[in-house]
Amino acid sequence: MSASIPEKIREVRRQISRFEKIYQRSADSVKLLAVSKTHPYQSIIQAIDCGQMAFGESYVQEALDKISALKEHDLEWHFIGPIQSNKTKALAENFDWVHSVDRSKIARRLSEQRPINLAPLKILLQVNLDAEANKAGVTLSDIEKLANEIKGLANIELAGLMTIPAPGKDPDSQRVGFRLLAQARDRLLAQGISTCQHLSMGMSNDFEAAIAEGSTIVRIGTDIFGARN
Ligand SMILES: *Cc1c(COP(=O)(O)O)cnc(C)c1O
Repeated sequence: MSASIPEKIREVRRQISRFEKIYQRSADSVKLLAVSKTHPYQSIIQAIDCGQMAFGESYVQEALDKISALKEHDLEWHFIGPIQSNKTKALAENFDWVHSVDRSKIARRLSEQRPINLAPLKILLQVNLDAEANKAGVTLSDIEKLANEIKGLANIELAGLMTIPAPGKDPDSQRVGFRLLAQARDRLLAQGISTCQHLSMGMSNDFEAAIAEGSTIVRIGTDIFGARN
């Protein structure tokens, strides 16, 4: 019999703690984001039962349905999927974090559409490390330009960088990419963008390499909720 969702979350938390120790990271410096996309809200309730409060979703309508079904719980919602500009209002009104911003138009719309009674929306810039033409994300060489275009926007906060590495990489080359992302974050901090603290990197197959290179948010789906159809 396969382990329950709470058991799997506890196991992922144990692994995160172990990697924090091995790679000399402070205890609790890595946040666990449970990626619940394609899984029903009942699975999220099982995760809440063991104290998991931060969830990642990739599809706007599916996410809105779950946010509405679970509104009596005090959850933190992270959008991690591709962003169409006609969906920015729903994101600005319903999410706490958006990890997948890769152009200034989207950032401007999110800032304009963020309700003023809410805290600024935390956004991360999605970086395309491999500069693959058809992949979402800003290239490494364009990060600083984009960061400077959006840093004055009132109702969003540039909280860091995010990446999804190309599949099939071995752990050593995964680490090389993650290190490049950490260095890009450090350059933004050195330029005085002091809010830019976070590195959203590491998924079920590569979160050890990501933690080794300084990840502050790991996005784990399969290891918690099982395979997606
Ligand atoms: C689906 C998804 C994840 C989770 O991936 P797993 O391999 O299932 O852990 C993480 N990040 C993003 C952006 C995703 O779309």
